[in-house]
Amino acid sequence: KLWLISGHWAHYVNNMFIVPGKDGDEKLSIEAVDTMAAKPMNCPNAMMEFGRKPRSYKELPIRYSEYDVLHRKEKTGQLNGLLRVQEFRQDDDHTFVTEDMIESEIDDILSIADEIYKTFGISYRAEFSTRPEDFMGDIELWNNAEAVLKKILDKKYGEGNYEINEGDGAFYGPKIDLQIKDALGREWQCGTIQLDFQLPRNFELKYIAQDGSEQIPVVIHRAIFGSLERFIGIIIENFKGAFPFWMSPYQVAVVPIRPEHNEYARKVVQRLKALRIRVEADYSDSNMKQKIKKFKNYKDPYILVLGDKEAENGTVSINMRGSNKQINDIPLAKFIDMCMKMNMEHSIELLDSAE
Ligand SMILES: [Zn+2]
Repeated sequence: KLWLISGHWAHYVNNMFIVPGKDGDEKLSIEAVDTMAAKPMNCPNAMMEFGRKPRSYKELPIRYSEYDVLHRKEKTGQLNGLLRVQEFRQDDDHTFVTEDMIESEIDDILSIADEIYKTFGISYRAEFSTRPEDFMGDIELWNNAEAVLKKILDKKYGEGNYEINEGDGAFYGPKIDLQIKDALGREWQCGTIQLDFQLPRNFELKYIAQDGSEQIPVVIHRAIFGSLERFIGIIIENFKGAFPFWMSPYQVAVVPIRPEHNEYARKVVQRLKALRIRVEADYSDSNMKQKIKKFKNYKDPYILVLGDKEAENGTVSINMRGSNKQINDIPLAKFIDMCMKMNMEHSIELLDSAE
């Protein structure tokens, strides 16, 4: 019944995993109360939660965030590694606002998106989709909302610095899509911000306005990463596995030159681990060059090579990813400062000194 109210049964049923009721496939109908479906989107949950009790304008905006597991029945030919999967999670949010709040809320969401994409060092552009011919709802509400979105986009990106897709909005509201660009120049739609005037009506959602009247809230659906699985896929390809320091599965590899340097190596590993720096080490007696080669293949950002001199002076010699020269005899404390700085600042580039 939920999917009937949400409109998914009418528009999206072919993409849903259905669990037929006891009468089986032939009786697959919404009237059969025991027909179930795995959820392809989080929206109905948010609607149900909002509608759970009477709401006042004082509570708005209400923001629901969900990272629940979603299922969508994609055709086999459309499945593509992590980029398109059938079971995934989204950084999904549904915000309930009054009409007056649309502007500041969208403004905030775009700022968050900007911060997130910049953190990963990826560029992006915005696309604005406006009222389609088969729109539903009040035309004045549409006009006002589109004017507000345009104003925000002009302010954020400058007039003409985003694409406008006339008539490409959903029937329930205008939307802004954020297309990110990876290192290979390919574009991916990740972020989406959609106004929705219709779904709150389907679920008969209301709030009491300041003047005591009953009003219907506007819903903003938004995701910034989009599917987390897909975003991870894009990021892996974007960096070709050579992640920035703060994102690397292992950040530092430790190579004792000979077994007698293992003791000092263990001390270094301990110091790093205590600071939550992700470190791996090779204490085996294979030769130094082989160990370094292995960790280079793993694309660890820094390989520390430790021998007599380092053990004696409490230093490390650093083999940095992407560079052929070794930086010799750096005090361990100084190397740790570098690591902490990159973790804290989410640096995209590797540092070669703590300055
Ligand atoms: Zn939604």
